Amino acid sequence: MLTVEERMEMTKGILYLVPTPIGNLGDMTFRAVDILKSVDLILAEDTRHTLKLLNHFEITTKQLSFHEHNTQSRLPEIMALLNEGQSIAQVSDAGTPSISDPGYELVALASKESIKIVPLPGANAGITALIASGLTPQPFLFYGFLERKKQNRMAELENLKNHSEAVILYESPYRIKKLLSELAEVYGEAQPICIARELTKTYEEFIRGTVCEVLERTKDKVWKGELVVIVGPHEVVDLTSGEEDYSHLTVLEHVDLVISQDNLTSKEAIKKVAKLRQLPKQVVYRAYHEQ
Ligand code: SAM
Repeated sequence: MLTVEERMEMTKGILYLVPTPIGNLGDMTFRAVDILKSVDLILAEDTRHTLKLLNHFEITTKQLSFHEHNTQSRLPEIMALLNEGQSIAQVSDAGTPSISDPGYELVALASKESIKIVPLPGANAGITALIASGLTPQPFLFYGFLERKKQNRMAELENLKNHSEAVILYESPYRIKKLLSELAEVYGEAQPICIARELTKTYEEFIRGTVCEVLERTKDKVWKGELVVIVGPHEVVDLTSGEEDYSHLTVLEHVDLVISQDNLTSKEAIKKVAKLRQLPKQVVYRAYHEQ
């Protein structure tokens, strides 16, 4: 015998998460086409963009726009449809929904309301770049886009440097030169990287080497198209052990580093930094809190 909740769940619709190609239409799966044909509604980031894909595969299902700027206002309407029993597929412009793309909020809400969620495997730029990078692929850390402001980007990179895993970054062609010099500054010029450009498309290209070699090879390049940057795994230097030279760090940076690396509270980190630098605790406290 089914419980009331189980019976209610059976009358609800299903939310399908459907990846779409990142360039090459041949990467659309048979199952993705079948699901998009069979659902009541497709949620698309840009309906005009998705229409081209739907036309190519002769899919006539109606679409509703669902993107980062209307997510909150659309959620009640979408949840009502799912609760009424409609089946809905969510797609983004390219690749896997929710990965540097809209989707997460809907999935979180649907799971809270016991809507069945069916994810399909499919195209993703980060993983595709990683497996061809020639850099040790596991473990890896998927990061996606860095923030735009220089100060925030540098803080993000400093934080990533504390992880030894290969890192997957998404970057626009307008900022790639800037990213390469930031990587040289934070990781050093000897850091191995791979830039994957225009994956699955006609002009697919991989540029592999140290940051220094890639900078040299691409100094006159006019960057175009879509890019993934894989930063290879590297040894994490423990600047909190007391054996390293940390004179290039400000007291504030040193405390932040100890907090993130040793998972300490600011109070504990201040104490540790004071000891490492042989400074009075109050001096570190003031430097940390007054900056
Ligand atoms: N959801 C997508 C996925 O699963 O990969 C990512 C969407 S994100 C908005 C778009 C970024 O992904 C691009 O700026 C680029 O960094 C990367 N990307 C997407 N398609 C790509 C391709 N064909 N080649 C290289 N990078 C790509």
